[in-house]
Amino acid sequence: MAISINEKRCPQNHPCPAVRVCPTQAIIQSGFKAPTVDQNKCVDCGKCIRYCPMGVFSFAS
Ligand code: SF4
Repeated sequence: MAISINEKRCPQNHPCPAVRVCPTQAIIQSGFKAPTVDQNKCVDCGKCIRYCPMGVFSFAS
């Protein structure tokens, strides 16, 4: 599995709440831009999916 990011859903106007809950610091956000995920660090825990109110994160199908 891998985490997929739907940038269109991200309002890009606030710090991504998922950055601080990710247990492996796999989520990178530059300024208020849509975040990216370092798939090498990600452990597929799914926390980011639950923490993002906009539904930006999902498991890639
Ligand atoms: S699934 Fe877990 S480890 Fe992977 S980016 Fe999301 S919060 Fe981080």
